[in-house]
Amino acid sequence: MATITFFGAALEVTGSCHLLESSSTGRVILDCGMHQGGDAVKRISKDKFEFEASSLDAVILSHAHLDHSGLLPKLVSQGFDGPIYCTAATADLLRIMLNDAFGLYERDMERKNLRLQRKGKRTVKLEYSQKDVDKVMSLCVGVRYRSPREFRTGASVTFHDAGHILGSAIVEVVFEDEGRQKHLVYSGDLGNADSTLMNDPAKLQQADLVLMESTYGNRDHRDMDQTLDQLRDILADTWNRGGSVLIPSFAVGRTQEILFHLGCLQHDGLLDGWKVYLDSPMAIEVTSVYDKWLRLLDDEDVRKLTEVQHKSLVEFLPTLSICITPEESMAINDHHKGVIVIAGSGMCTGGRIRHHMKHRIWRAETTMLFIGFQAQGTLGRNLVDGAEKIRMFGDEFAVKATIETLGGFSAHAGQAALIEWAASFQNSPQFALVHGEPQAMQVLAGKLSQEKQIQCQLPARGEQISF
Ligand SMILES: [Zn+2]
Repeated sequence: MATITFFGAALEVTGSCHLLESSSTGRVILDCGMHQGGDAVKRISKDKFEFEASSLDAVILSHAHLDHSGLLPKLVSQGFDGPIYCTAATADLLRIMLNDAFGLYERDMERKNLRLQRKGKRTVKLEYSQKDVDKVMSLCVGVRYRSPREFRTGASVTFHDAGHILGSAIVEVVFEDEGRQKHLVYSGDLGNADSTLMNDPAKLQQADLVLMESTYGNRDHRDMDQTLDQLRDILADTWNRGGSVLIPSFAVGRTQEILFHLGCLQHDGLLDGWKVYLDSPMAIEVTSVYDKWLRLLDDEDVRKLTEVQHKSLVEFLPTLSICITPEESMAINDHHKGVIVIAGSGMCTGGRIRHHMKHRIWRAETTMLFIGFQAQGTLGRNLVDGAEKIRMFGDEFAVKATIETLGGFSAHAGQAALIEWAASFQNSPQFALVHGEPQAMQVLAGKLSQEKQIQCQLPARGEQISF
């Protein structure tokens, strides 16, 4: 008997962590993500493991996003010492993500302790250190796509293209159990087939149990042609209003996709007069990792673009300026119009985008352009939902800017693509939906049942499924 227990991304979108147990696989977790939104110190201390970290035999990591990987250093600090299987590109990105997250965590902790000291209260300690981040990296085992890797006798893991971000994978675990071979397929985060820099998500045919993401279970995206038309219209409108465009962007994935498409517009002569700024040290570093893999890999691993071959994404967009220092970031404020600023964080929960919003969101000529998923409770979501006023830096700001969303750039598959992916399995496996808000999950479960006769479970945190 094999079991899977859900410890995160159960009826929610963040904190992915699912524990697989069987005699041949041992105890393995699929992802070790943190919950996102709000202050890092609180989140990291609140996210407790409901298993002994030292009792785990291995971790299998679908991709580098922090909601799938962010608690790995905490896991190591609590005694986990086994291998972390992922693709080699995921390991490259993970180093940047975990170091950046630790920097923010350390900074938040210093501020918190200063506040506690002022009140004469006892200070609190970090739950993990830089040493734990380094140890996570030393435990990573890079595995090639589509090459089964045995991790215990009778148990192997294979990574398939998920098309979500560089290195992202659908995880297939094949193992012996009760005298037969069993297949567990975990979708990880499934990408949008319109992504330019990656292969489409692989379709698998065999499974006993499928854990499937459902972020966009309740809606479809516009296709890429419509999305690019919309982008051209938004740029033209903003130009005519004498304004600028702020793009809150996730450092990994969305930033590189939008850079590529802006590069195409530039080559078509449609970006004349605009100045583009990439104002995020982390996104700049991640873009260089993308460049490395775009050059290195054959087209079986990353969709190879003739346009960017032998060039970097940065060189592909000659009008791009890169802002590393805060001074370079602040200098953008001197330009009153014709500026496109790409900055983190993607949901406006922190980062340099908020400084640009402070300068421009109350101006009617500004456009805020969202290109990725906005989770409930984030400032980005409030704006997309039509907030007329927002609070930042202890102050209130009227939202006079035009708020636009380009769904076609999403890193996640839309509803129709999720249904098609689920229907590719040929042997009627059990399905469990993860990584979605409850409403999106229910809509997707209803559609799968009606259209494909697939019945899904919607496991809550702590629930277990046997297969
Ligand atoms: Zn992701």
